[in-house]
Amino acid sequence: MRVRVDMNRCETHAQCVFAAPDVFRLDDNDELVYDSAPDDSLRPDIEQAMAACPVQAILIAPS
Ligand code: SF4
Repeated sequence: MRVRVDMNRCETHAQCVFAAPDVFRLDDNDELVYDSAPDDSLRPDIEQAMAACPVQAILIAPS
């Protein structure tokens, strides 16, 4: 699975970090960093992150 975050939209609300901490995290500068090719088993967490993101910045594409 491929995950992409539109960083032009992302406002670093970090809702995705709470929903899917194995995929999304904030770095030392509070910038969002993420795994762009996570394991398929993480899909439920990622879908929760997508639903939680207030600006719909997270996209999933088939790998
Ligand atoms: S929840 Fe959305 S806006 Fe917030 S850090 Fe994640 S991708 Fe960015």
